[in-house]
Amino acid sequence: MGLVERVVKPVVSGIKHALMKPVTIKYPFTKVENIPEENFRYDPKAGVAYPGYKGRHILYLDKCTGCAACERACQEIAEAIVMLYSFDIFLEFDSGFKSGLEEGGDEARLVSRLLHPLGGVMGGLEEAEGGFRLRLNDTPIWEMAAQVVYENLFMDVFKELEAEGWEITMPEEKPRGEVRSYIIKKNGVEAKLVIKQRDLGYKQNKRSVFPAIDYGRCVFCGFCVDACPFYALEMGGDYELAALEREELFYDPEMLAKPKFNTHPPESTWAEKAVLVLRRYK
Ligand code: SF4
Ligand code: SF4
Repeated sequence: MGLVERVVKPVVSGIKHALMKPVTIKYPFTKVENIPEENFRYDPKAGVAYPGYKGRHILYLDKCTGCAACERACQEIAEAIVMLYSFDIFLEFDSGFKSGLEEGGDEARLVSRLLHPLGGVMGGLEEAEGGFRLRLNDTPIWEMAAQVVYENLFMDVFKELEAEGWEITMPEEKPRGEVRSYIIKKNGVEAKLVIKQRDLGYKQNKRSVFPAIDYGRCVFCGFCVDACPFYALEMGGDYELAALEREELFYDPEMLAKPKFNTHPPESTWAEKAVLVLRRYK
């Protein structure tokens, strides 16, 4: 092998590669951009799946009919999808209760107890038929049924209230649809807690039932996307799904409808970047 082969060619090759743009990126300082056209999606009319990035799902609420085909497709795979309704929780009362609430009496204490499992953030007060209505939740509560909302949020609170002398009964009239109500009273103070399904106003999905996905179970196979007959589900480029708590891996329909698309972490300082570089060579 001559001098050219042994010395010149390797040196030229080294210089060439040193000047080339690297094919790798410096994650997390730089991120892969999501290109919506490259999402993994399925065209049910053409019967064709378009290969693409299988990151987090994107749910189009305005196309989803709530048919649950995606849920059925996932059942034999990971059971990661559940169909959920959106609920509101109201406290209905008369003007006497409202005055007590403003004065900080038993009424205020009752509202505070009922707000506790909801994180203490209130929706708002509005006039209703025969009195007032206080929405206890700020954002919609996604659950499988009104009964589950009661069990998850109020069952323990009701036990405590009963131990403190509050009487809690269900009204005699049968609840219609996804509605449950409870009359809570003590010493002449009375209010009605109503758990009511929220109509999100989508014409194609009158019952407002949408899929939610548990990313602690999902294996990113894409079968649910293949099964959707209404172009309502895709998988996008959002790949940053790590969470500190198990519950954070559960994405309700509203979360699925808002892809993060690679939101950037706070920009690192030069000192932090230097520490990262030094660690690499220690
Ligand atoms: S991608 Fe996830 S949610 Fe969809 S079918 Fe596969 S495991 Fe289920
Ligand atoms: S995402 Fe598609 S398959 Fe799933 S419920 Fe909505 S329309 Fe049906």
